[in-house]
Amino acid sequence: MIHKLLIANRGEICCRVIKTAKRMGIATVAVYSDADQNALHVKLADEAVYLGPAPSKLSYLCGDKIIAIARKVGANAIHPGYGFLSENAEFARQCAKNNITFIGPPISAIEAMGSKSAAKHIMQQANVPLVPGYHGDEQAADILKYHADTMGYPVLLKAAAGGGGKGMRQVWHANEFNDALAAAKREALSSFNDDHMLVEKYLTQPRHVEIQVFCDQHENGVYLFERDCSIQRRHQKVIEEAPAPGLSETLRQQMGEAALKAAKAINYVGAGTVEFLLDVDQRFYFMEMNTRLQVEHPVTELITGQDLVEWQIRVANHERLPLTQEQLKIKGHAFEARIYAEDPNNNFLPATGRLSLVKTPNESAYVRIDTGIQEGDEVSVYYDPMLAKLIVWDQDRSTALARLQKALSEYFIDGVSTNIDFLSRISQIDDFKAGAIDTSFIEKHHEQLSSEYKLAYADIVPIAALALLLERQQQTNIAKQDPYSPWSVQSVWRANDNYQEALKLYVNDESHDVLVNSLMSQDRQLFNLEFQQQNYTCWGILDGQQLISSINGHISTSTISGNSPEKVLFTAQGRVRFSRALIDLGLNEDTHHTNNFTAPMNGTVVAILVDTNERVEPGQTLLVMEAMKMEHAIKAKTAGRVSEFYFNVGELVDGGAELLAFHGEEGA
Ligand code: ADP
Repeated sequence: MIHKLLIANRGEICCRVIKTAKRMGIATVAVYSDADQNALHVKLADEAVYLGPAPSKLSYLCGDKIIAIARKVGANAIHPGYGFLSENAEFARQCAKNNITFIGPPISAIEAMGSKSAAKHIMQQANVPLVPGYHGDEQAADILKYHADTMGYPVLLKAAAGGGGKGMRQVWHANEFNDALAAAKREALSSFNDDHMLVEKYLTQPRHVEIQVFCDQHENGVYLFERDCSIQRRHQKVIEEAPAPGLSETLRQQMGEAALKAAKAINYVGAGTVEFLLDVDQRFYFMEMNTRLQVEHPVTELITGQDLVEWQIRVANHERLPLTQEQLKIKGHAFEARIYAEDPNNNFLPATGRLSLVKTPNESAYVRIDTGIQEGDEVSVYYDPMLAKLIVWDQDRSTALARLQKALSEYFIDGVSTNIDFLSRISQIDDFKAGAIDTSFIEKHHEQLSSEYKLAYADIVPIAALALLLERQQQTNIAKQDPYSPWSVQSVWRANDNYQEALKLYVNDESHDVLVNSLMSQDRQLFNLEFQQQNYTCWGILDGQQLISSINGHISTSTISGNSPEKVLFTAQGRVRFSRALIDLGLNEDTHHTNNFTAPMNGTVVAILVDTNERVEPGQTLLVMEAMKMEHAIKAKTAGRVSEFYFNVGELVDGGAELLAFHGEEGA
């Protein structure tokens, strides 16, 4: 009986395993690296033991250290999660030697599936359909090319030891073959220390459909239906769903039975996934078998109502499978979206930094969040950039999809860029809604998904402007009690008063002009905003990161994050950056006719726009200052000329300092 479980992993999967173990009354032990001392998985476990420095080679991949810790704390089982040591046969062997239950398949099964080409031989013998291709030992370039030429292009080169899409190259023409082979081999060698290649027919529009299988130690096996993982970026899954849209019952059964046949061929025990490519003609082909729990297992849990980690633990305890094939039923539909710290605007480069805001949708019977992060955590370079998995369920695909869209619109992360908006855009594409998906979906819809996509500014700018106005008002109110605050510097606008000003703001680097009329009405400060020839009557309440806004009577709540000068507004259109660019000091009633050439705050002179002794018109900008990325125009209120500028461009100026000598025209 497993009574104390060590989880040899980190992040969301460690937290997820701990939850089930706790529910089953099993004590849990986490391990952690230097980078994870304050991580959620450490807090959730009953005990946590230090493992080593941040790089996983020195911590989460150190099987020996982990086994020594398990022995020391008296853990009699290890759950490896996915990644790290989960498909490492040697680690499983060491566990066995030390009388520790490895929660995974037999060592022989891990070894059999460890090489894509060896796995294909086994499957061929078991009559599981394979993608046409060459998976032999002959590795000379001309022999591999001969096979490619014979099967016809396009072909796909794959590293036999591959994973994570590495060491894979599409080849469309014979004359590209040799270069592609060399590149794939190089990548395979550096990633897996093994450049053994296989050549497969490249299917141009397949779907990735995989079957969850489960076997116990009493020769029982079931399949828990399929997951469609066709939404991929560079062969990496992004959104998964279960069941696969449009899959017939017959095909479901055929694929399920083929997967079980594959599992039986290697005497499988525990949770496994058999991955197939499903071609447009409905033929399916074995791709590989993953001998562990998959990242996307929650969608299967939600449509079957089962806890697969519980099943794993029970099977490891020599129990029989909890349900038979006949007892398993699909109920409803589930999606999983993988939330990554990465920058879709910068080629999806992994993003690092401190998570200054983490606000998730509420969890319920319909919404589940598997995550290992908390606000304030540092996303480091050391580990996979996946921050969380958002999983939703409902009665059918369209209602589940609506849940996905809504939950994505309520997921706010700041401090690092994420792919949340990208996921949200995928979920809104008509083909996705119709279930018309295949592995080229993201490429095919590249244009619609690219972030060049135009924002509807009319829905964003008034809210952003209102947020800036309210924030300034709050800061002024604080400053009133603190004479040394920079906000108490005399300025032209008033809080809680009637005034007019021109506000320039940047929204995602595009500048917008808003004319603001502020007025008090029935104890409430109203702002009349004029933007792109439209008027917006607004009021709002800013409470920390929450803004309740009323724009022409439409009341809504938004989340705002970040400190001045740049802030982030989470809108129905996604995450939008905004900042105040320029306060036009010229429009205030009070100062309309009085020249004032003092620096409004500490800052830098960034531009001098007129020559000395040049005649200037009323309203003309003479000089521009910048402070905290905000620009301030210093304008002439009357006609006249500047006889001297006291500062040069680039010079620092103290708030309140005289900037220039101005001579107004007679009678002005
Ligand atoms: P890895 O183990 O590196 O993740 P897989 O063999 O699982 O690689 O393949 C990953 C993805 O690559 C698949 O989900 C599919 O989208 C694509 N793929 C793999 N083999 C083929 C093929 N023969 N034709 C077309 N696409 C393929």
